[in-house]
Amino acid sequence: MKMVNITIDGMNMQVPEGTTILEAARQANIRIPTLCFLKDINEIGACRMCVVEVKGARALQAACVYPVAEGLEIKTNSDKVRRARKVTLELILSNHDRECLTCVRSNNCELQKLSKELNIRDIRYKGEQTEHDIDNLSPSIVRDNNKCILCRRCVSVCQNVQTVSVLETVSRGFDTKIGTAFDIPLANTPCVNCGQCINVCPVGAIYEKSDIEKVWSAINDPDKYVVVQTAPAVRVSIGEAFGMPLGSRPTGKMVSALKKLGFDKVFDTDTAADLTIMEEGTELLQRMQNGGKLPLITSCSPGWIKFCEHNYPDFLDNLSSCKSPDEMFGAVLKTYYAKKMNIEPEKIVVVSIMPCTAKKFEAGRPELSAAGYPDVDYVLTTRELAQMIDEAGIDFVNLEDETFDDPIGDASGAGVIFGATGGVMEAALRTVADILSGESLPEDKIEYTEVRGVQGIKEAQIEVAGKVIRACVVHGLGNARKVLDRIRAGEAEYDFIEIMACPGGCVNGGGQIIQPSEVRSWIDLRVERTKAIYAEDRSLPIRKSHDNPFIKKLYGEYYGEPGSEKAHHDLHTTYQQRANYPLDN
Ligand code: SF4
Ligand code: SF4
Ligand code: SF4
Repeated sequence: MKMVNITIDGMNMQVPEGTTILEAARQANIRIPTLCFLKDINEIGACRMCVVEVKGARALQAACVYPVAEGLEIKTNSDKVRRARKVTLELILSNHDRECLTCVRSNNCELQKLSKELNIRDIRYKGEQTEHDIDNLSPSIVRDNNKCILCRRCVSVCQNVQTVSVLETVSRGFDTKIGTAFDIPLANTPCVNCGQCINVCPVGAIYEKSDIEKVWSAINDPDKYVVVQTAPAVRVSIGEAFGMPLGSRPTGKMVSALKKLGFDKVFDTDTAADLTIMEEGTELLQRMQNGGKLPLITSCSPGWIKFCEHNYPDFLDNLSSCKSPDEMFGAVLKTYYAKKMNIEPEKIVVVSIMPCTAKKFEAGRPELSAAGYPDVDYVLTTRELAQMIDEAGIDFVNLEDETFDDPIGDASGAGVIFGATGGVMEAALRTVADILSGESLPEDKIEYTEVRGVQGIKEAQIEVAGKVIRACVVHGLGNARKVLDRIRAGEAEYDFIEIMACPGGCVNGGGQIIQPSEVRSWIDLRVERTKAIYAEDRSLPIRKSHDNPFIKKLYGEYYGEPGSEKAHHDLHTTYQQRANYPLDN
């Protein structure tokens, strides 16, 4: 790697040739402000917040896209630079709906923070303001262009990472806005509700449709029995909302907070992940042994399912018929649990706390209703849970740890690792290996490291009791598209594929706590949160789904065996082809 000598703010340094000025400055501990920049996702130099003076250049240059060369002299904080940044910011703010007090992103807004940092006290440019309707017809996503600063991060993530491509920049000049084809509501496009656009948006222009008030009403209704369940990835992000470092896993505090919020029971979706493994592992074995449709593709990620329904209907028979874990749990709660506790299922309200916005859409699927009522009534994101905790005045960081409620209790480590890419595959392999080998494999043989990690597509031939399983693990829908296209073209063959819609899996779901560009451009959130997931797995006494005592009891008392008729009725589902760009679907 060729190194070059440069000078930044009078400081001499050596960096690899081609490093951007922004990266070089960071190495020198100089922070250059950015707005549109998000590393590896949006590096377009459009907003001009990161301008710097480069000796010899006639105009100011955008640091996020300017590669350094030998002898470059840069000033990041000259009077000219500061004035230019201030003018740019004032122009952005002059056409911005500056209602911070009622904005969902207040206190976590990159524009608000920058305004304070650049000491904006007055906006000198007062002119016409664009007014946009709010698009809130989707069950998952709300778009408010009045708050949009046209940074285009959402467009990049939707087009380049997820390859869903429903968002685009439309019109020109003063009328420029982020929209959809023909300006139709997001709900009527093939948007998969993944929420990745929310996570990258620096401001309050895209956010989840909130169900908080409905959940408060249910909690306060004496006729309702409100059960809450939390997905594995929620526990490794919720602490970030209360200032805990990335990679914290305050599971006990989260449970304690949920009890304080007034839920009647607090359960762990990881238990249902164990149940999913029992059903999906059986499905895999049956398909492999009986010449069934392969590859079997996992079905826990509702963003991926909708993507498949719109774009790859020829793969619908490959999808596991298993409901996702929280939907399975809802079904169990309104059937088995309702009978056992002698509660009428219509009185049970199931609330899922998820790292996911697509779950809100999933909960509305009419086919997910084992007892004749929706399996899951409301879905809240990790962010919405943090909001409720704030609203209730709970001092999260200083809570004492509490445990999930009986009779469902703690889950296995296999259920926990569902939260990371490769986790469902690994959890399934732990169970399938024991079934095929007829023995209980020891701790040192249950970690399938070949399916772990943030590489977008992982392939492995895994030998299990003399049988080779051709496995593939994919996260991010752009990667899913690549793998499915290769299978379609006859260039790849697998037995079992895990697909998660969000890059990194649920740890980086569209409902997780939002980290600003300043953090996520330089620290891989997926890696930090995933470490916490695997630490949680290793801390648990039971690490295989089939060893979970509640699961054994559930089959013993109610379902008989995995894949039974009763299990199929309650725990499995169907899929439907959806038009690729309909005006109504
Ligand atoms: S997007 Fe940011 S600056 Fe705009 S109203 Fe919301 S918090 Fe305030
Ligand atoms: S939710 Fe996902 S698919 Fe929908 S617009 Fe946002 S990034 Fe695109
Ligand atoms: S909606 Fe958000 S991410 Fe998209 S262009 Fe506007 S400000 Fe940027």
